Amino acid sequence: MTDQFERRINYLRVSITDRCNLNCLYCMPNGVPLLQHADILRYEEIVRLVRIAASLGITKVRITGGEPLVRRGCADLIRMLHDIPEIETIALTTNGVLLPELLPDLVQAGLQAVNISLDTLQPERFQAITGRENMPDWQTLLRACVQAGLKTKTNTVLLAENREEWEDIAALAQELPISVRFIEQMPLGQGSVCASGDAEQVLRLLRRRWSDVHPVQTQDSSAPARYYGSEQWIGQVGLIAPMTHRFCRSCNRVRLTSIGQLKPCLSYGTHTDLRSLLRSGASDDVLREVMRQSIYHKPETHCFGSGKTDAERQTMNRIGG
Ligand code: SAM
Ligand code: SF4
Repeated sequence: MTDQFERRINYLRVSITDRCNLNCLYCMPNGVPLLQHADILRYEEIVRLVRIAASLGITKVRITGGEPLVRRGCADLIRMLHDIPEIETIALTTNGVLLPELLPDLVQAGLQAVNISLDTLQPERFQAITGRENMPDWQTLLRACVQAGLKTKTNTVLLAENREEWEDIAALAQELPISVRFIEQMPLGQGSVCASGDAEQVLRLLRRRWSDVHPVQTQDSSAPARYYGSEQWIGQVGLIAPMTHRFCRSCNRVRLTSIGQLKPCLSYGTHTDLRSLLRSGASDDVLREVMRQSIYHKPETHCFGSGKTDAERQTMNRIGG
């Protein structure tokens, strides 16, 4: 379906848990108040909502969190979503810690794409950024994802803490057919208090080391990243600049939080409570109409920095990054 600004909305990001096995300093360094199990949507409830969303034109689903892989049975959910005929793509965003052991099951269940958070290549810095010691072996993990046939991307949030590694992280695109992406930090949760850089700084750095760095077209015109290539890379580098270049004009996504709130834009506190409707016996038709209204009224642009919303007190793990 299209929203009030004629954007085609076909992408639903589904958070399946608020919990996480890391405490990234820009996200939830001190953890977050945990929700009760009963508050979280059951997989059957998620599948029902995705089925209805699919009837409104959703064709791509991303499973996220919190850390989605800490919730048991993530592969079972993927299998159920895979059975929905209109859903063409199922992707996952993960911090990668549990991915090595779960990868075969996830792929077998129908996972097609993975975004892995990779803020540092150095174990000590990993501990400083995430509060934990268990940094994955990135090279091995990324290779395994590529070999399993997954479209593979990494996400690096631009932090003062990892600034000196941006070039080394970008160099992963030299060795692997992946998209290495850098993301400007958004003022969500603790993100508002960490110093960071911007996408233009990364681009200047790339051009200093690889002089032929040039923009490349992506098939997906709604992708928030601007992508760059070089003769020396087999992959590409993506820059996501929500703060310095708004990409709201081509935004195609809405979010379902772990407690069943449909959020048309991550920057606003507003949402539609689908869980209450689900659990009070609403029919598919009623749910569809409520979702249609919420999607139709998706705001024109995000409002970070405007002081208009309380969303800046929310953490990304709760909204579903
Ligand atoms: N736990 C998974 C992970 O880390 O990939 C999935 C959830 S996490 C909230 C999704 C993405 O949001 C991660 O790539 C993370 O780096 C990013 N993120 C979290 N807080 C952010 C912030 N304040 N600004 C920009 N990106 C943020
Ligand atoms: Fe956990 Fe992801 Fe947030 Fe890091 S960014 S604390 S891995 S939810």
